[in-house]
Amino acid sequence: MTAYRSVTEAQQCILSHVSAMPPEEVALHDSLGRVLACDVNANRNHPPYDVSAMDGYAVRYADIAAATSGTPVRLTVVDDIRAGQMPQVKVMPGKAARIMTGAPVPAGADTVIRVEDTDGDGDHVAILLPPKSGANIRPLGENLRNGELVLNKGTEITPGVLAILAMVKQKQVSVFARPTVAILSTGDELEGIDEPIDENKIPDANSHALYAQCRALGITPTLLGIAHDNPIELKARLAQGLKHDVLLASGGVSVGHHDFVRPMLEALGITMHFWRVAMRPGHPLAFGTSKGGTSENGTAVFGLPGNPVSSMVCFEQFVGPALRAMSGHKNLFRRTIAARLAHDLKDRVGRAHFVRATLQRDADGYIASSTGTQGSGVLMSMAMAEGFIVVPADTEAMDAGDEVVVQLLQGMDFQEDANI
Ligand code: AMP
Ligand code: MG
Repeated sequence: MTAYRSVTEAQQCILSHVSAMPPEEVALHDSLGRVLACDVNANRNHPPYDVSAMDGYAVRYADIAAATSGTPVRLTVVDDIRAGQMPQVKVMPGKAARIMTGAPVPAGADTVIRVEDTDGDGDHVAILLPPKSGANIRPLGENLRNGELVLNKGTEITPGVLAILAMVKQKQVSVFARPTVAILSTGDELEGIDEPIDENKIPDANSHALYAQCRALGITPTLLGIAHDNPIELKARLAQGLKHDVLLASGGVSVGHHDFVRPMLEALGITMHFWRVAMRPGHPLAFGTSKGGTSENGTAVFGLPGNPVSSMVCFEQFVGPALRAMSGHKNLFRRTIAARLAHDLKDRVGRAHFVRATLQRDADGYIASSTGTQGSGVLMSMAMAEGFIVVPADTEAMDAGDEVVVQLLQGMDFQEDANI
């Protein structure tokens, strides 16, 4: 129980205890960024018939195959077809129909010539350049085929996916529910944001940092405020948090004389799976679940370190992937890129180090620089960070120019494997 887990072991343990939430229906426009909870099939053909891909003339290829700008082929224009209008006239040999982009190709015609390759006077058109036979026609069902599977369960809804859902008229979309999250800060020294400044207290940063990190993943959490380091009060506040799918409690999770979070969670029936991870900043980090884990409407509980930087780093490594897995995503981990170190980096062996970093680009790629003092209480290191340089647990020192893995912190770009 007291053994240190590696970051990867801790991530695997957490992910083995959480599962996707049940499906819910949301309005199409609210589905952006969510994950489809069922397969989607096309309910029509699109286009519903062969349509022109260009403004031009619908012709019989055999008529115009030999056309050149020197010896153009002259055809009689017999129809003028607009998008949304059904053609009335069959194109016979020696004839052509003027046609707009998206309009149905008339019977008889097999090819569309772009306006730019013609010279027309209204009643006649001269074809100056033959395309390939069948050119400039979008065939029936090119985009959607009636009945065919178009989107798989598990697909993340991007704007492009949302456009397909609109085409198959899904005004309501079945997506995985997002977990509900409660956040509790613990510590006698903490001062809430609405309390007056008391020089002897520490302003509560974690509630708000964790709130923002949840929001960045599309989840609006509930703030439970600050609990004192008092077992009875703490137990009652933690119990409130257990009504949610995920509880994030920060502070009081280590071995201090007033660290009651773990014993109180155990008293509330939570099984603690581990509480130490070999990382910097970050340890101590506790993880537990109620019986059956989240698959049986239980709660996943994270006891995060009190230091604000540690708490935020642990959120990125452990909480974020769990929230994304519960929301149905396949890509759980922050995107990593390769970068070169701008400077030497000294380290202690035994713990993975997440160095807060900024990134620059030159002709050879990215260059990563530490944001400066890396103490776990120095929140500015986090405020300025674009990513974390990941220094593996077995690495003692790195030199300027060495290639490193950097986890990107901004945006919504995620990948399937942690790759750290
Ligand atoms: P703990 O994990 O409770 O031992 O706290 C470690 C350090 O983090 C202490 O210096 C605390 O004052 C500080 N800390 C704990 N919780 C918070 C919080 N919510 N906001 C800012 N600092 C905190
Ligand atoms: Mg404390």
